[in-house]
Amino acid sequence: MSILVLNCGSSSIKFTLYEKESGLIIHRGMEDRVTDYDQSLEKILSDLEALLPGGLLTLEAVGHRVVHGGRRFRHPHLIDAEVLEGVKSCTELAPLHNPSNIRGIEFAARRLPDAHQIAVFDTSFHTTIPPEAHHYALPVKIAKKYRIHRYGFHGISHGYVHGRALQLLGDMSEGRSGVITCHLGNGCSMAAVKNGRCVDTSMGFTPLEGLVMGTRSGDLDPAIVHYLMSPEGGAFTDEEVHDLLNRESGLKGLSGLSSDVRDLLEARSRGHAGAALALSVFAYRLKKYICAYHGVLSGADALVFTAGIGENSPEMRAEAVTGLEPLGFVLDGEKNEGVRGVEEEITGPGSKVRIFVIPTDEDLMIYRETVKIISAKR
Ligand code: ADP
Repeated sequence: MSILVLNCGSSSIKFTLYEKESGLIIHRGMEDRVTDYDQSLEKILSDLEALLPGGLLTLEAVGHRVVHGGRRFRHPHLIDAEVLEGVKSCTELAPLHNPSNIRGIEFAARRLPDAHQIAVFDTSFHTTIPPEAHHYALPVKIAKKYRIHRYGFHGISHGYVHGRALQLLGDMSEGRSGVITCHLGNGCSMAAVKNGRCVDTSMGFTPLEGLVMGTRSGDLDPAIVHYLMSPEGGAFTDEEVHDLLNRESGLKGLSGLSSDVRDLLEARSRGHAGAALALSVFAYRLKKYICAYHGVLSGADALVFTAGIGENSPEMRAEAVTGLEPLGFVLDGEKNEGVRGVEEEITGPGSKVRIFVIPTDEDLMIYRETVKIISAKR
């Protein structure tokens, strides 16, 4: 039997086919620039059918990544009509993401009626966040009515690398542990995890808050939005402001050049001022959050870097940690330089906090959760 992991994004569909018992990957693929979901999913199924000797009937379950599960979905769920309704009710909170996730679920339910459908949520890992971090300082009545809270995202990734970090910490992590995880990809977020429970995360009501990202601004004064929409600030429309903050800001906006850290590092080495500014704002914000979470955890035991930038850029890892030696973060410079895309400890001598690079694997996490649920069902 086999398990399919389906990650339907806003413009791409990523998928991994696993052998159920061994967890071996049979096939991994991606459909880019998707405009017609059903057509792309149909193509994926026919490709997979050719790979499976017993055909699609040997697919026992499909694990779906679902971006927003609100506060309701604290764990992965077997999808039935009620769960699907629940996911749909979270759509207004994630209008850019949940609709494509739902398309994937509905397609799989229709075309693979014998397979179990499992939803694994990007928000679940953060549902343990305590009230003081979950609430914005808005009138409680309004926040409650419109469900405006810190939900957090990238939870599947934070959960995966946190689990690996505990294994790497070994005995030390038993009972008490404080782990800071940094997911630095096109989207960037951090989590503070105390004794296995997430206690804070940098993304909030939407994935716009927090760190500087490829094209997203991260934190800013909310009054800037009003100002941009006023005649003095350029009279941007609602949609233009949304676009500006989500697609034109971050590293891309600051550098005026690119959202890709590789391009910016190269440009900075040639003396490009915009690239240098963008990377320094990125590293500064990262450093600020590391310090904040170090405090929140009353001293972290581990700091983890993951995703495209976290796994592959020694420069950004070093820039984030440099200057934090008095707080107990010491990097092994030489080791750090050599680590790209592999799991490795990069802690330097005398460091109080252990520093790791851990490649993330969201699909593996979804596969595991899917197997857990269908096994428990028997
Ligand atoms: P996504 O969030 O789309 O899954 P990734 O986790 O793959 O993205 O991260 C993509 C980003 O990782 C790129 O935009 C680039 O900035 C960064 N990146 C990838 N490889 C490197 C590298 N060798 N050095 C520096 N940055 C890198």
